[in-house]
Amino acid sequence: MPERPDLEHVVPVLTRELSGKSITAVRVKNPVVMRVAMRDPIEAIHGAVIRAVARRAHFVQLFFEAPSRHEIAVAPMLAGRFSIASPDDRATRERGVATHADRSPADLAVTFALSDGRELRYRDDVQMGKVYVIEAGRWDQVPGLANIGVDVLDPKVFSRDRFRALVRARRDQIKVFLMDKSALDAMGNAYADEVLFEARLHPKTFARSLNDAEITRLHAAIVKVLSEARDEIARRDPPIDQKIRDFLKVRNRHGSPCPRCGATIRKAGVHGHDAFYCPACQPDGRQTSIVDFGKLANSAKPPATESTPIEAPGTRDKPPSPPAPAARGSSRPRAPRSKKGPGKGGTSSSSP
Ligand SMILES: [Zn+2]
Repeated sequence: MPERPDLEHVVPVLTRELSGKSITAVRVKNPVVMRVAMRDPIEAIHGAVIRAVARRAHFVQLFFEAPSRHEIAVAPMLAGRFSIASPDDRATRERGVATHADRSPADLAVTFALSDGRELRYRDDVQMGKVYVIEAGRWDQVPGLANIGVDVLDPKVFSRDRFRALVRARRDQIKVFLMDKSALDAMGNAYADEVLFEARLHPKTFARSLNDAEITRLHAAIVKVLSEARDEIARRDPPIDQKIRDFLKVRNRHGSPCPRCGATIRKAGVHGHDAFYCPACQPDGRQTSIVDFGKLANSAKPPATESTPIEAPGTRDKPPSPPAPAARGSSRPRAPRSKKGPGKGGTSSSSP
C-alpha cells in the first residue's frame, strides 16, 4: 500500500498537476470502492475546481474551490494508486505516460475527467481502497480520518518526551501501536517492520515492556527510516503509480539473509498483520514474567526460567537453532532476557 513516504511523493505531484483544473465527468467502473455521504455525489462534484491536494495520515484529500461544498478523501489501503492519463498523442506515448488509449486498465476503479483533457484515475487491483465523497470538513463521516496522531516527521511536535508518553499509555504490541494512525502519523505494515528492524525490537514486544533506552531508539528509528525513505523516493522520482520498495531491509524478505547479521528473515502474524523481522537482531523479549502454563503443559516441557528458553513444538518465531556462522549465519539473540514462551496471539508462519 502506499504509505507515508510514497504519499509524500505522490501528493505534491497531484497538487502540481491538478490544482486549478475542474472535474468534468466522473466514471465509476468499480463501485465497490465508492463511499458517499450525500445524495448525488457525482453530480455534486461535476464542474468543481480542484483547489488543493493534501495528505492526512494514509488519506489523499482533494479540496475544491467555492462554491463547491464537497471534498474527496481517498484511502488507497493495500494496493490503490493514482495515475494521470493524457490525451492520446505520440509525445505522451513516447514519454511513457499513460494515455486515454489505455482506456480501461483492469484495475481501474474511478476516473475523474479533467478540464484540460486529461484524466485522474484511481486504480486498485484488490479493491480494498475507498473513495469517499463528503461534505467539506465532515471528516467524522470517514472512518479514521478525523483523529490523526502526532506528525512523526515534524520535530516540533514529535519529541522524545511526547513519544515516550504515547508508548507508556499503550498496552498493545509495539507493531500494532506503530500502525495506529490515531497515535502516529503515519506508518503502515511495511514501514512499521522497517522501523522495528532499525530499532532492533521484535514486532510482538509489548509497548509497556519497553525501557527508556528502547523508546529512545524507537523514536530515532521512526524519524530515520521514514525520512530516509521519503528522501530516497524523492531522489528516484518514480511515476506516481509506481511504488519503490526495493530499498527496504526486511519487509517481504522472508527467507532472505538479514542485511545486518546474515540470519534468516522471518515472518510472523501480529494481530492480523504480517510482520517481517530478523530473529537475531530483533529477539523476542516477551514473557519474561508471564508464561502460559496451559500451553506449556501441552508442550510437555518444563517451564522456562531466565536461562532456559522454552521451545514448545509448534512455537513460531524461534531464532534458528544452530549458531552456524556461515550459510544461514544465525545466532541466538544476544539480549540477556529470556525469550519466548509459546507465542500468544501470533498467527502465522515461520520458515519452512
Ligand atoms: Zn539480523
